[in-house]
Amino acid sequence: MSNTATLPDLTAETASLRVIPHWIGGAAVPGTSGRFSDIYNPATGQVQARLALANAKELERAVAAAKAAFPEWAAFPPLRRARILFRFRELLEKNTDRIAAAITSEHGKVLSDAKGEVTRGLEVVEFATGIPQLLKGEFTEQVGTGIDSWNMRQPLGVVAGITPFNFPAMVPMWMFPVALACGNTFILKPSERDPSAALILAELLKEAGLPDGVFNVLHGDKETVDGLLDHPDVQAISFVGSTPIAEYVYTRGTAKGKRVQALGGAKNHMIVMPDADLDQAADALVGAAYGSAGERCMAISIAVTVGNNTADELREKLLERIAMLKIEPGTEATSDIGPLVTKQHLERVKGYLNTGVQEGSELVVDGRNSALPKGDGFFLGACLFDHVKPEMSIYKDEIFGPVLGIVRANNFQTALDLINQHEFGNGTSIFTRDGDTARAFTHAVQVGMVGVNIPIPVPMAFHSFGGWKRSLFGDHAMHGPEGVRFYTRVKTVTARWPTGIRVGVDTTMPTLG
Ligand code: NAD
Repeated sequence: MSNTATLPDLTAETASLRVIPHWIGGAAVPGTSGRFSDIYNPATGQVQARLALANAKELERAVAAAKAAFPEWAAFPPLRRARILFRFRELLEKNTDRIAAAITSEHGKVLSDAKGEVTRGLEVVEFATGIPQLLKGEFTEQVGTGIDSWNMRQPLGVVAGITPFNFPAMVPMWMFPVALACGNTFILKPSERDPSAALILAELLKEAGLPDGVFNVLHGDKETVDGLLDHPDVQAISFVGSTPIAEYVYTRGTAKGKRVQALGGAKNHMIVMPDADLDQAADALVGAAYGSAGERCMAISIAVTVGNNTADELREKLLERIAMLKIEPGTEATSDIGPLVTKQHLERVKGYLNTGVQEGSELVVDGRNSALPKGDGFFLGACLFDHVKPEMSIYKDEIFGPVLGIVRANNFQTALDLINQHEFGNGTSIFTRDGDTARAFTHAVQVGMVGVNIPIPVPMAFHSFGGWKRSLFGDHAMHGPEGVRFYTRVKTVTARWPTGIRVGVDTTMPTLG
């Protein structure tokens, strides 16, 4: 679908580019705003498509479609909704390669990693197929004489999801399978950097039998986000992205009376204790720091070594492994690290390499000097800093690139305090053989997702995903039981039948019994 014929600003160069449409009311809808953003192939540095950004009219159309579809969808028995999700799950499995190819082409990540993200999203769909069980309420017979009470969970209405670039399939699937299963209708506003996976998901939902209008994709930027935050017919907002925007979305959305869950950024630490298996710790760190070029909200970006010997030995082991990493386009089967998402982001990450040196840390491995693919792709090799200190910006800020810093701590308590004093609290991990230390850590650490000898402790779909502190604004994490709570509200009924009714007017405060 293309609206190129109506565009006033097309040059010969851009005229041939594919234009990515919205998905409203069960069909692809070309954008009419005349506003576009460029979609790059990060491995080549070339623009490969243009994304139509929504205007107010298109936003209105998407909300109206979702609102119109809500009553019928909410009235579907949960089992019927679940059956559509069962079919969607099958289609996801069949189309994993296609979705992963779209992700790699726009995000840059390695194909096997892109397939992994589809699988993690599919697992949320599997969780959501259990909705008849998940929506079961509570019932108490005889809360008073002849009186019964029960509660039920009902959907909210039209809900919206605003998602980041780094997981263009998985993060939307943290949200909409649960939202739809609960009986809501959904508007997805994907990242404007890699929007195509969302459209494939929309097509597959339709093929699975989802009624038109129940799931919509509206592309856009701040203007669209603000429109969703302010729209009186949008009942709830799920957001995942950087902390400043998460806080903004939470503040503006809740001021408009909406339910909001807004997940933000991270700076995830991994403590390496002297008793840890350092080969295992080094393997884990390299995967967790450099996988997906460090563009994961659960990436480990700080290794906190306890004791100088631990640091020295670990550093050597990291160097051996970093030397083996291949930086290649994500489509290459041998690639370990693909490109970063945009040139602008690449420059920002490179800027931190200079800053880290100026701040006095040691840049042990400079990924700018790695063997990088030729051409204009946005590549950067793995980078390692040692002697990072808490006051440095490379310690405080989320860099979101293939950059790992070593902070040397003298003891466990100092390492723990570092984590607890950091503004973010998304994920963390400890590598140790000592059960006592692991238990003390899991109990005391002020972070939402904790790993013991697991570097990236992303909860499974039937648990819930969410950080603490400035990594999550709102009261509910995503998917799992928290997701069901977020996308429903509880109604409690207290009922009696005429035989239970006492005769006469009583003006005192009713007490049961
Ligand atoms: P981002 O905050 O730039 O964008 C996220 C979404 O917000 C996008 O859809 C974007 O269009 C929209 N947006 C951007 N600027 C806006 C503005 N001024 N007003 C309103 N909306 C705006 O994030 P990103 O760069 O796409 O993603 C990377 C960030 O996401 C990192 O900080 C990462 O840690 C975080 N993230 C967090 C989690 C988590 O679970 N906590 C998961 C994935 C990513």
